Amino acid sequence: MNKIESFKNSVLPVSFEDTAIAFQHKSDRDLLLAYLIFVLTKNPFLVKFLSQAAKLTLSMGLPVKPIIKATVFKQFCGGEKKEEYSKVIANLGKAGIGTILDYSVEGTEDEAGFEGTKKELLNIIEQSKSNPNIPCTCMKITAIGSLELLEKITAKDSLSKDEQREWLQLQSRLDAICKAAHQANKPVYIDAEESWIQAGIDAMAEKMMSTYNKDKAIVFTTLQLYRWDRIDYFRRLIKQARTGSYKLGIKIVRGAYLEKERERASLLGYKSPINSSKLETDKEYNEAIGLCIENIDVVEICAGTHNENSCKLLVHYMTEKKLANNHPHIYFSQLYGMSDNISFNLASAGYNVSKYLPFGPVESTLPYLARRAEENTAIAGQMSKELETIAKELRRRKQAQ
Ligand SMILES: Cc1cc2nc3c(=O)[nH]c(=O)nc-3n(C[C@H](O)[C@H](O)[C@H](O)COP(=O)(O)OP(=O)(O)OC[C@H]3O[C@@H](n4cnc5c(N)ncnc54)[C@H](O)[C@@H]3O)c2cc1C
Repeated sequence: MNKIESFKNSVLPVSFEDTAIAFQHKSDRDLLLAYLIFVLTKNPFLVKFLSQAAKLTLSMGLPVKPIIKATVFKQFCGGEKKEEYSKVIANLGKAGIGTILDYSVEGTEDEAGFEGTKKELLNIIEQSKSNPNIPCTCMKITAIGSLELLEKITAKDSLSKDEQREWLQLQSRLDAICKAAHQANKPVYIDAEESWIQAGIDAMAEKMMSTYNKDKAIVFTTLQLYRWDRIDYFRRLIKQARTGSYKLGIKIVRGAYLEKERERASLLGYKSPINSSKLETDKEYNEAIGLCIENIDVVEICAGTHNENSCKLLVHYMTEKKLANNHPHIYFSQLYGMSDNISFNLASAGYNVSKYLPFGPVESTLPYLARRAEENTAIAGQMSKELETIAKELRRRKQAQ
């Protein structure tokens, strides 16, 4: 039996089965709503149909916004404005869970839009200074710079004069955000995106880490373990951080663009950057957890996952190495509205936990909501687990009456 298999027999200091803890923040009504949403997202045709219908009816000005806002938006997003998401942050905070505000406006494509996103991110960092329930910020590089430009940088294509100027502006925007995060002493997580722009993002993240992570990890890069080249890259990053005497901030995820990656590779005839099976991805994710723990003196980690086994493995390694549950280098993180059984039980046992909380106008969060629903449809096991835990809690509440 290998090390990763053997942990399943060990006794862990936390269980994910306590649904009273998991849903302490939800009223019966909210719980029923969540149940209904997860039942609906089990049907891929219905999800596609409803996503398209929502986009169309909103663009036609039909009054569907209140319905979306009271249902899927409420389940997966914090609100449109500060007054709304502040309540969610405070509620999560009561359970010892931090909030990572995710400014979810997608599709920004011009300089004015990129500057607007930068301002919004600086505003979140400012808010986080006086709010202990906001432990850090997250961002997508494509929200402050053009995808086409990043694609050229990744492909090492030569840039026109205008593109060179755009490239300098993008780097300067990122530097302003990381500098503000450093001054506020609150980390910023740089999300990973599609492989054809990721080398550009990686290069920028590495530069920012070597500048701002001298004492602690302020800038975090993200590793997508569904890519078969990421473990080698991770080892290189660890070496680089040791030689450069800085801390390596790493968010580890499996990866959100699987279908897109495979389709593009097949269309353009190159080898897919994605592992050939889910098993491989799981193995590499768990290997990355092991590497984090072995190098915990120099690595700070955020495990962004809804996979119970991976969370249990991390807990197991922490127990084995006698690391405190609230070790400052280790965070667990899930998306808001998902896997509350993991987040709330971990927080209740004293682990560092945060939730990604998207916010913004309902119309702008539609692509995020559609992705959430489609991703959930694709993860059949995860959906059954969400439904199973909600049903268990509903039964428990009924019996307790
Ligand atoms: C806090 C947080 C931050 C995130 N940040 C990012 C980010 O920056 N960039 C990003 O891309 N995603 C990000 N994600 C999304 C994340 O990648 C998905 O939530 C994740 O892929 C779902 O996997 P899981 O670890 O929860 O577990 P699981 O449900 O066990 O795994 C599902 C995942 O396994 C992989 N997989 C499934 N089938 C196969 C297959 N046949 N072959 C190979 N691999 C397969 C896919 O990545 C799939 O999404 C983030 C998630 C969280 C919770």
